[in-house]
Amino acid sequence: MKTISSLYDAARAEGRQPVSFEIFPPKGDLTLESAHEVAARLAPLLPDFISVTYSAGGSGNGRATADIAAMIHDDFDLPTVAHLTCMGATEESLAVAVDDLKRKGIVNVLALRGDRVPGAAPCEGPGSFRFAKDLIMRLSDEGFCVGAAAYPEGHIECTDFRASVAHLRQKQDAGACFFVTQLFFDNAYFYRFREAARASGIEVPLACGIMPFLGKAQIQRMVFMCGASLPSGIIKLLAKYEDDPASLRAAGIEYACEQLADLQENGVDGLHVYTMNQPDIARACTDALRASWSGVRL
Ligand code: FAD
Repeated sequence: MKTISSLYDAARAEGRQPVSFEIFPPKGDLTLESAHEVAARLAPLLPDFISVTYSAGGSGNGRATADIAAMIHDDFDLPTVAHLTCMGATEESLAVAVDDLKRKGIVNVLALRGDRVPGAAPCEGPGSFRFAKDLIMRLSDEGFCVGAAAYPEGHIECTDFRASVAHLRQKQDAGACFFVTQLFFDNAYFYRFREAARASGIEVPLACGIMPFLGKAQIQRMVFMCGASLPSGIIKLLAKYEDDPASLRAAGIEYACEQLADLQENGVDGLHVYTMNQPDIARACTDALRASWSGVRL
C-alpha cells in the first residue's frame, strides 16, 4: 500500500492538492457489507485516500476499522488510513492492535488520543499513552506512516493557541508525517493557524478537514464537541431555513464547497472531506473542486 507521505510528496511535485475522504465504520453489526457499499460509491470519485475512524467506546465498531481500511485497499485499490486511539491503552493492548494492523497490511495510521471518557482516571505515569504523541512515537517505531490531528482554532481542552501549536510540533517531532485538521467553518482560522504552524517549524503537510453542516442539531453538537467558531453567515442560514431541512442541508453542502474552493485557491496542502458515509456529499465536494481548478486529478 502507498504511504500517505509518499502520496503528498508526489502531489507536491506535480503541483496538485490531494483530496481525501473520511468514513466511519457503520454502526450496528460488524459486517463489512455496508462499508463496502459506501466505498463502492466513493471510489469512482477517485479520492487520493480514504481514512476510517476508530471508536474506542462501546457504541461504535472500533474493531472494524482495520478490516474496513484493508477491504477498501484490496477491493478498490485505494490507499487507506486506519485511525487508532490510545486513551486507556496499555502496552499490551497496543501490541495487539499493532499486530492486527500489520496482519491486515495497513501501513498508514492516524494516531489520536481519543476523547476523554467522563469519570475515567487520567492515564499518567511511565509507559502510559497520555497524549497522541506517545502513540505516534510507538507507531513510528513500528514502521507505520503516521498522521495526527491538528486544530486550526486550538484544541477544545487547551485555551492557549500557542501551546496548542507547540503540542502539534511535538507530534511532528514524535514522527507524525502529515496532519489532518479538525473541521472549521471559517477559512481565516486555518490561514492564521498555517502561518503559526510553519513559524513553529512544522513542515509536514497540513490537510484541511471540512465537514458540511446538514442540520441545526448536527452543527450544535459539532460546535460544542470541538469548539469550532460559527460564522454569522452560517447562523443566518440556520435561521433562514429553520423550517426547511432539505434547503438547509443543500445550503450546508454549498457552504462546504465554497470553503473547499477557497482553500484550494489558497494553495493548502490537501483537502479532506468528512463524508459522514454519505457519497452525495463527497460527490458535491469533488464536483466543486473540479469546477474551480482543473489541476485537481478528480
Ligand atoms: P493530543 O494531541 O494528545 O491532545 C489532547 C490534548 O492534550 C490537547 O488539548 C493538547 O493541546 C494537549 N496536549 C498535547 N500534548 C501535550 C503536552 N505535552 N502537555 C500538555 N498538554 C498536551 N477520535 C476518535 O475517538 N476516533 C477517531 O477516529 C478520531 N479521528 C479524528 C480525526 C481527526 C482529523 C481529528 C481532528 C480528530 C479525531 N478524533 C477522533 C478526535 C480526537 O480523538 C480528539 O480531538 C481528542 O480530544 C484529542 O486527540 P489528539 O490526538 O489531538 O490528542
